[in-house]
Amino acid sequence: MLDVERALRRAERERAARKNAEQLLEERSLDLFMANERINAAREQLEDRVNERTRELAIATELLRKAAQRAEAASEAKSSFLANMSHEIRTPMNGIIGMTELVLNSELTATQRNYLGIVRDSSQALLSIINDVLDFSKIEAGKLELSPTDFNIRKQIASAVKTLAVKAYSKNLELICSIDPEVPEWIYGDGGRLSQVLINLLGNAIKFTAEGEIFVHVSSLDTSDDQVRIRYSVTDTGIGIPREKQTLVFQPFDQADGSTSRVYGGSGLGLAISRQLAEMMGGSITVESDGVSGSTFTVELQMQHSSRTDTIPRQTHRVVQGQKLFVLVDNWRLSEAICGMLSNWGTHAVDSPDAASMLIVDEAFQNHRLLQQWQHLPRVVLTSVMTTVGCEESNVQQEAKTSRRVVNIVKPVMDSDLLDAIATAALSDSEPEIEITVATDTNTQTPGSGFRILVAEDNQVNQLLATTLLEQMGHTVEVASNGVEAVDAFMYRTFDLILMDVQMPIMDGLEATMRIRNHELSGSRIPIIALTAHAMASDQRRCLDSGMDDYVTKPIDRSVLERAIVAHIGRHKSGTLQQSDSQVQPTQTSSRRKTDGKVEQASSVMQAAHSEAENKMMNLPVFDLQDLQSRIGDNFQLLERITEIFNQTGDKYICQIQSAVDENDCHAVSEAAHSLKGAAASLGGRRCSEVARQIEMSGRENDLESIVVMQAAIEQEVTSLKQHLSAYINCVHSKVT
Ligand code: ADP
Repeated sequence: MLDVERALRRAERERAARKNAEQLLEERSLDLFMANERINAAREQLEDRVNERTRELAIATELLRKAAQRAEAASEAKSSFLANMSHEIRTPMNGIIGMTELVLNSELTATQRNYLGIVRDSSQALLSIINDVLDFSKIEAGKLELSPTDFNIRKQIASAVKTLAVKAYSKNLELICSIDPEVPEWIYGDGGRLSQVLINLLGNAIKFTAEGEIFVHVSSLDTSDDQVRIRYSVTDTGIGIPREKQTLVFQPFDQADGSTSRVYGGSGLGLAISRQLAEMMGGSITVESDGVSGSTFTVELQMQHSSRTDTIPRQTHRVVQGQKLFVLVDNWRLSEAICGMLSNWGTHAVDSPDAASMLIVDEAFQNHRLLQQWQHLPRVVLTSVMTTVGCEESNVQQEAKTSRRVVNIVKPVMDSDLLDAIATAALSDSEPEIEITVATDTNTQTPGSGFRILVAEDNQVNQLLATTLLEQMGHTVEVASNGVEAVDAFMYRTFDLILMDVQMPIMDGLEATMRIRNHELSGSRIPIIALTAHAMASDQRRCLDSGMDDYVTKPIDRSVLERAIVAHIGRHKSGTLQQSDSQVQPTQTSSRRKTDGKVEQASSVMQAAHSEAENKMMNLPVFDLQDLQSRIGDNFQLLERITEIFNQTGDKYICQIQSAVDENDCHAVSEAAHSLKGAAASLGGRRCSEVARQIEMSGRENDLESIVVMQAAIEQEVTSLKQHLSAYINCVHSKVT
């Protein structure tokens, strides 16, 4: 019984336990079900989210693609806008710079030459601003390239400093430049970019300085056989830059003090570009300033030695060595710089005017009472560019005009100008009859002159500019106003070279060149030089690809054009450059009367004396020292030798002209005059050379009457040139011994 009860109770417990277990299972199953439901819901939610994100991503990608497309189009539009803008601005600039060059090539007073030099340099500075804008966008796009060439670093620096002269002196700031003697003359590197950085630093120095001076110091350090490190610093006495701002100023659009922009203007781009350029040239740019009394910016550039070693050595060194110079200049830095130049030439300034043979005085002291007793001494007067600006000539200028012993030079003082001025004053003092002109821009014919050149150019200013420049070089010019006219001219007439503008109406220069190349007979190839205002390298490549041989960028630089012509025609011709009849330049014929014999000399000479050509000729110097030096440099022996030859051959040519006139042989006259023209020109005899040229032209035109009129003049000119040469040689001898 007990067993039955026990079994019943156990069965009861088991039933209750099973029930519990079933209930638990049911609960767990429910939980599991719920969890599963939640997972499913979460998965669905996740899938929805992923789908949504994917959709969003697709939209974003599409937007980005469109934005990138728009940015690319905008960047292309910007590049092409910049190229077009640069072209549009360069075209009128071409007119300004080119026309100024033309006037500079005519007969001018020193003052006029000075003004126009400033116009030219300032226009070039304006061009460089345009280039700044281009540069910055190119730097941004990583497209800026350097253009290294051999360049004369001393001239490059002098020209950059002079560009800012008006700006500095109009604020009454002294501008001083000192170049160490060990700085080489020629360097291989990007001279344009070197100037760009210097001009920017100088512009800032002037802008942020109210009084005092700006001092440029250039030095160099050989780092290896072929490398040279150029260092230049620009120190000013201006407002300075606080230390905490000194890194900031090299960031684009940053200025040391935002408020200064209102006072001083500026975009904040200059130093950023300068830093980038210096770094591209393997160098750096740094600034030192105590934040109150001025700043010094120092630039170091890694450049290469040039293979060019030609310099223009100056005979004048010896003349200067013979002088005892007393320097009277207010500004100590300027005084120090001048004394440094003198010691580089092997001479030292003396301590008192009593011991001096020549004075170097600032214009401020020119009329000083204390200097009265040394009036008899020749002197070099340092004038400010502002003194020479304006209508009325200053006392200094008037004195320089009337007395050859007073030679003016315009500040900033560059060593080559000072050297020439001292030599001119010294020579004028010892030989008062000598008329020495320190001419800068000469108008002499080039060795490779007398070519027929076709100029294809639609712009009238550029037509006139190119024609005049080429005619001045002694070439004959025909103009075509578009590509079609150029191809026609090429087909029906003979030319030695074509200057081809790129952008022209009807047919552009690229198309015209391709057509000309197609028409060319096999074996013959006329040199074609592009005249392009396009700044982009890709445009220049397009010119070469179309079949052009070279390009000259506008504004046209006379010497660059000259070199390109000589280089390309030289390549196509054997080198004997005879003028054909068709190549003779037109000369004035209106006043000419044909006669069989000689006309009365007196009246003819009167007529000739009034002719424009004669007037022009009389303005030329009998003897141009600088021109002579640019040809033969310091080779005094060579000068003596060629003078000796000229002393004999000059008379020989005069006799030949005389006999040819007697025999009415204009051709022989022309030949003798041609030889005389060359001989005189190579000795700096500009007036003699010009009279000979006129006789040569008259000979070519069978104009015997004009030849007879000019005979007395050419005899006179040969005699004068001989006298000047011998006086110069004696003078140099006396200084040396
Ligand atoms: P910008 O002169 O057009 O403002 P820069 O990049 O050439 O641009 O110069 C940036 C800033 O550096 C100037 O605005 C000025 O605050 C400071 N700075 C440059 N040069 C000088 C200087 N010689 N003296 C004082 N501050 C200078």
